[in-house]
Amino acid sequence: SKLKNSLVKTKNNFSGKIDQLINYSGVYDDEFFEELEEILILADLGVETTNTIINKTRERIQIDNIKDKEKVKSVIKEIVREILIDDEVTSFKYPMVILVVGVNGVGKTTTIAKLANLYKKQGKKVLLAAGDTFRAAAVEQITIWSQRLNIDIIRNDQGADPASVIYDALQAAKARKTDVLICDTAGRLHNKDNLMSELSKINRVIANESEFFTQYNLLVLDATSGTNAVNQANVFNQATKLDGIVLTKLDGTSKGGIVIPIKSQLKIPIHFIGVGEQMDDLQEFDASTFVDALF
Ligand code: GDP
Repeated sequence: SKLKNSLVKTKNNFSGKIDQLINYSGVYDDEFFEELEEILILADLGVETTNTIINKTRERIQIDNIKDKEKVKSVIKEIVREILIDDEVTSFKYPMVILVVGVNGVGKTTTIAKLANLYKKQGKKVLLAAGDTFRAAAVEQITIWSQRLNIDIIRNDQGADPASVIYDALQAAKARKTDVLICDTAGRLHNKDNLMSELSKINRVIANESEFFTQYNLLVLDATSGTNAVNQANVFNQATKLDGIVLTKLDGTSKGGIVIPIKSQLKIPIHFIGVGEQMDDLQEFDASTFVDALF
């Protein structure tokens, strides 16, 4: 499958190395766990998540007195699956506003286009809002997508107040009976205060229409950036409420294991993954399918 192909490098770097260790060790002593720890750290899982996995693995191997290599592998796989599975399933209610946030370059515009394409294919009425008024290129790029997808867009000149673009888009969405309004935002992380005030202003504008729309804030992260993705998520988490994550560029990276610390440390559900540059290369994230592809 597309997902399996996308995760080949990640698999080599993650479960492939765990398999090698298990096949070669045979005993589950301190040395084994030290080497497992090294593999997890090198796969960018971070100290916290690595410790969680190590402790749980140690505990289960001991309690169940597991010796069989295949069983040890499946214990680790189960622990990862448990981390990735969501306790609560988010229910999407239409009409909705999706506010898309993330740093420039992570694949935000492409993701917006992919989402628009997805909802349009489902028969939803979609509208786009060019809320990244900071970069002229951003408005141009999302406009090109809107033309390609034949989806309407609300835009203003570069430098216009992003909140006012979003306000106009909300009014248009009400008038046109839009099911899904997808809003782009600026991704200048170096200016944290600007980011915070801009997002809180936009959030207020959308909240004012909460009787008409369900708001859903989506953070886009780039899997190839490894631990940096977790850092970005922490910054955005402080700047705005986050309901879900889209993890892009999982295809071709060896750093896909980053889904694990993202999920375990941030407690924000991963809703979609990007597995390519084409419009259909957006998949709903399913923990079990993902883990099966990863191991
Ligand atoms: P933005 O600056 O965050 O809006 O980023 P863009 O949407 O312009 O994407 C930056 C680059 O990443 C473009 O070349 C996209 O084609 C590429 N890209 C986006 N998502 C994916 C993905 O899931 N997989 C791959 N391989 N490339 C992607």
